[in-house]
Amino acid sequence: MEGFAKTGDFCPNEACRDYGKLQDGQKQTNIKKSGKTKKGVQRYECKTCHHTFTATTGTFFFRKRTPEHEILETLALLAEGSRISSLTRAKGFKEDTILAWLREAARHAEAVEEVLMADFKVKRAQLDALWSYVGNKGEKKLPRDG
Ligand SMILES: [Zn+2]
Repeated sequence: MEGFAKTGDFCPNEACRDYGKLQDGQKQTNIKKSGKTKKGVQRYECKTCHHTFTATTGTFFFRKRTPEHEILETLALLAEGSRISSLTRAKGFKEDTILAWLREAARHAEAVEEVLMADFKVKRAQLDALWSYVGNKGEKKLPRDG
């Protein structure tokens, strides 16, 4: 994740007036901490647009041409059983593009799973189906709490 702004440093909502604005050097910051997810990941809220995001949002797909939400939604639909070929028709993305997102997502599997489960209500078993597209289960670490 080299070269990315630190999470909690900017609002990842592209529709927001303060999107991407770094907190450093601002008199009035727009990002505040807003509790934690079940897994203990820090959650933030943007005071400008009231969009909440976790420490994993806005870090791995940032600066891609397609909005992060679109990418995550596409991955969620795949996890829920949609076929790549039907998503290319429905959403207009190239199959290669979707596969590239999948490969990138697999490299950040833990972060992607967290977001998909929290924000898109994707289930654990569906995630395994998602990773099967790219032939691996990502870079999963051992569970911290057994
Ligand atoms: Zn915002």
